[in-house]
Formats: sequence, C-alpha cells, structure tokens
Amino acid sequence: MTVVSGNELWQWRRVARQNAKAGGISPEEVDWLLREVAGLDKLVLRWESFKERSHIQIERPLSELTQLWQRRLEEKFPLQYVAGVAPWRNFSLAVTQSVLIPRPETEYLIDLSVEACRDRIDSVSPPLQKGHWADLGTGSGAIALGLAEVFKEATIHATDCSAEAIAIAQQNAWRCNLNNQIKFYLGSWFEPLSALKGQLSGVVANPPYIPSAIVPQLQLEVSRHEPHLALDGGPDGLDCIRHIINTAPSYLRSGGVLLIEMMAGQAPLVCEFLHRHGSYNSIKICSDLAGIERFALAYRS
Ligand code: GLN
Repeated sequence: MTVVSGNELWQWRRVARQNAKAGGISPEEVDWLLREVAGLDKLVLRWESFKERSHIQIERPLSELTQLWQRRLEEKFPLQYVAGVAPWRNFSLAVTQSVLIPRPETEYLIDLSVEACRDRIDSVSPPLQKGHWADLGTGSGAIALGLAEVFKEATIHATDCSAEAIAIAQQNAWRCNLNNQIKFYLGSWFEPLSALKGQLSGVVANPPYIPSAIVPQLQLEVSRHEPHLALDGGPDGLDCIRHIINTAPSYLRSGGVLLIEMMAGQAPLVCEFLHRHGSYNSIKICSDLAGIERFALAYRS
C-alpha cells in the first residue's frame, strides 16, 4: 500500500484516459483499475470528487501503475493482470500470469453443479452436495471456491500441475475465507487424489481445450500473456477432456457427477466419448448464457 494525493491521482487518471483513447482502448478500463487498486467508487470517479482528498491509499505505487498501464496499451497486457485481481462470481480473485483469468462463462459451472445435485436429491444417498468434490486444474482456484461457497458441507479437493497456480489458489482461499473447506494438491488431474478413488460426489473441470493451432490466433491479450498450459488442449483440443472422461469413473462414487467445460463445436465429440465409455448415464450438454454449447454433464452409473 502507498499513499498519493487526490490531485496526483487525478492527474494520473487524466493522462491514462487520454492514452487509452488514443490507443483504441476504452477509458472505462482506467476507472475499473482505480476502483480495484484505490477503492474509489463509480460516482466518486464520475464526479472526480477524489481530487480534493489529501490522502488516497493505493495498492501499487503510481510509477508501477504507469508502467503496467503502458504494457496494457503497447503489449495488450490484460487489464486483470495489471490490477492483479479478477472479479468472478462474488469473489475478487488474485491473478498473475501463472493462472488463466477466470472467465464469466465458467461461473455457470457452479450453478450447474447445484442443479445436478438437486436433480438427484431423492435418488442418491448420502446427498451429493455433502461429499468430496474435485476441481481439476484449479488455476486461480475459482471453481474450487465457487463449489466451497455453494456446498457448505462438502470438502473440495483442488489439483493443479503448476506450483505457482497452487500458491495463488491457496492465497485466494485465504482471501475468501474458504481455506478450511478446500485442500490443494500439486499434480496432474486425478494423480494426487488416489486415496479418494470411488468416493468423489462430483468432478468439475475447466481444462485446456483450445486446439494447439488455434492458440496463437486468439486475441492478443490471451495468446501473448495467458499461460498456454491452461489453454492448449493438443491437436484437436480434446486431449485433457478425453483423459478426464476416461479417468473420472474410477474416482466418482456411483451416482456422482462429472461436469466439464469445453469449446464451441466440441459438444458432439465430447458426448460421443461419454457414451462410448459405457460408465455414464443421463449425459447432457448445457449451453452458456450466450447460447453456446459449453458444458457436458454426466453421472457415474
Ligand atoms: N475460455 C478460455 C478462452 O476462451 C479458454 C479456457 C480453456 O481452455 N479452458 O480463452
């Protein structure tokens, strides 16, 4: 935390907004950044009433913000990495370049998990929402936190093969006061969870699913700055999804649910993998709020 005067911050905002406009970036991004790092609200920014304050606390020195803002303009560095935080569901999550910025469409995975339990409330005992859940490839920890928040009586097991990601996910669990409910493991997909074979009520994952050849063609913010480890799903984008579908049945309890995020156009193949495996029932594809077939859901028979 450092302290600046209102007038200094006002000057900084004015220049940053001008540069944004000149660089084809929305000046609203500057205000979002100041809301995050200086705790100023929308009205205070709109009326510029902060200009009169003698002291304003900010999370990073202005010189550092200037450098980061320059990177935003010149290198398309993502705004959430500039701020060091990303909003997701009710949370404000710490993010660095070691983790994918959690996407709004992924928020819906949590609601689908709740619905999946509700649909089985009369047929599965003990109820799914009370057991062990896994978030595979947790990254910033977003899905694990979302599950912990909605399933108060569950234990969430979050894995990631990146030690940097696990450190950030753990930090986020503390930040959101959900650290007692989540266990973190360094390792690939199910590997660290062998003690839980046959016991998981739910497995949720947003694995890398972009075909390797497409990754360099994504928006510059994504292709240049986000971890390819979290994006690149191999030649057809389905390497990790295939592995999870093939491995989940030995980890799920009977009646347990698998929920995976995927890319537009992958639903027919993902459905086929699930059917072909022979261990799943009630296989369903769910669309995101933009109407894109984004999630696959299936129960372990
Ligand atoms: N949804 C992300 C994107 O569009 C990709 C995330 C992933 O591969 N799981 O960039």
